[in-house]
Amino acid sequence: MTIAKRMSLWLREFGGAYCDNCLAKELKLSRSQEAGRVARALSKTANFYRERGICSLCGAEKKVTTAL
Ligand SMILES: [Zn+2]
Repeated sequence: MTIAKRMSLWLREFGGAYCDNCLAKELKLSRSQEAGRVARALSKTANFYRERGICSLCGAEKKVTTAL
C-alpha cells in the first residue's frame, strides 16, 4: 500500500486536522518531509483540505491536513 493510500485511510478513519509531524509519527514514516509531500499531494484532490490551523494531536498551529 502506498503512503498516500495509508494516509488517506488514516485521515478518514480518525477525522480531525493533523500536521506533517504527527502524520509522520502516526504513519511511522521516517521523515516528516515525506508526510508533507504526500499531504500536499492529497490536498490537491477533492477529498482533502490543507490549510494553516491547529493540529488535533499536538495542538501546534501549522499547516494541517483534513479529510473532507
Ligand atoms: Zn501535530
